[in-house]
Amino acid sequence: MAEKIKMTTPLVEMDGDEMTRILWKMIKDELLTPYIDLKTEYYDLGLEHRNETDDRVTVESAEATKKYGVAVKCATITPNAARMTEYNLKEMWKSPNGTIRAILDGTVFRAPIVVKGIEPCVRNWKKPITLARHAYGDVYKNTEIKVPGPGKAELVFTAEDGSETRELIHQFTGSGIIQGIHNTDKSITSFARACFSYALSTKQDLWFATKDTISKKYDHDFKDIFQEVYEKEYETQFKEAGITYFYTLIDDAVARVMKAEGGFIWACKNYDGDVMSDMVSSAFGSLAMMTSVLVSPAGVYEYEAAHGTVQRHYYKHLKGEETSTNSVATIFAWTGALRKRGELDGLADLTAFADKLEKATLKTIEDGKMTKDLALITSLQNVTVLNSENFIKEIRKTLEAL
Ligand code: NAP
Ligand code: MG
Repeated sequence: MAEKIKMTTPLVEMDGDEMTRILWKMIKDELLTPYIDLKTEYYDLGLEHRNETDDRVTVESAEATKKYGVAVKCATITPNAARMTEYNLKEMWKSPNGTIRAILDGTVFRAPIVVKGIEPCVRNWKKPITLARHAYGDVYKNTEIKVPGPGKAELVFTAEDGSETRELIHQFTGSGIIQGIHNTDKSITSFARACFSYALSTKQDLWFATKDTISKKYDHDFKDIFQEVYEKEYETQFKEAGITYFYTLIDDAVARVMKAEGGFIWACKNYDGDVMSDMVSSAFGSLAMMTSVLVSPAGVYEYEAAHGTVQRHYYKHLKGEETSTNSVATIFAWTGALRKRGELDGLADLTAFADKLEKATLKTIEDGKMTKDLALITSLQNVTVLNSENFIKEIRKTLEAL
């Protein structure tokens, strides 16, 4: 066998949970370590270890990402009440992705992996739709109170000079709920810049939408900042590139997206991006065919799959039953990170390997060998449905033959 590809700077490797943790190891064993002298700084973000370290490991992995510049992350469990008992947790730890995004700031770009034989459910979608999700604040950094009974809820801002601004939220006559959320002009500005730059570098139109007619200060701030950044910094370049920036209301955007042919970037606030990316990726084929990269204003990259830990499949796996879990997005998280590491470190062979592994992955599917989720929706005839492990092994065969 040829000599293994060398790396110079470690990748920050964030391991995760359940079925994706199983895939993670298979991908490394079958598709990476046989070819690359893999250099990673390993952080175990599996829920057990997060619990043991009081979630410090998540913070440390984000700090390491800042230091080295590129990370690859496996899907992780965001604990809820059921997970508290299942894993006997000390606390309901926050979403690791939320914690990492809060530390790195930045914007998440999600694009479908387009492959022959998997046509979008939306007939008129001809090109990929890239979702740009703001990765800071709003409901992901919220403060909530369960109101036990009658009383007054107020929003209070205390300036550094001690002066207060107050707004009545609600005069409760019975029990209820309240929530405080925030964002910063700094983060919104870098979100806007990330979107405009990404649109320019990929030569695609940029759409942005919020609910500014209802949220006259909060959402309106997003709209104003985008407009200002656009006019000051990007309008001329957009005209030269022949692309457009388009703002509309979120409900209008949703309606237009369904009628569009694709080939644009849709910028969304944090929650809209969370929800819409799942819809767009599912409509493009499968949640397992969606890539995700967090780009921070400091130029730091974190690659991952857009889907979760595929819990249902993991429980089958634990019972010894066969699973057919799609590893494509997780493979592309690795190739994205390795390619970026190769570009930053000037390692042409590492970049070329990333390209080759992606090609082998897509060719395997186009040759009719795929996991069940794709087999159910493919337009190809005579497909072979493979289990989780054999799909990865088949990619290795394709890779060896390329
Ligand atoms: P999920 O893991 O994305 O899975 C939802 C369903 O989508 C699966 O049950 C499966 O459908 C299908 N699916 C998703 N990925 C697939 C793949 N690679 N191959 C084949 N089918 C796939 O979402 P979830 O079940 O709502 O969440 C499970 C856990 O993941 C939760 O604890 C959640 O907190 C976490 N999560 C983590 C991240 C992240 O780390 N980025 C993101 C989302 C969710 P069928 O069962 O019908 O086959
Ligand atoms: Mg989501």
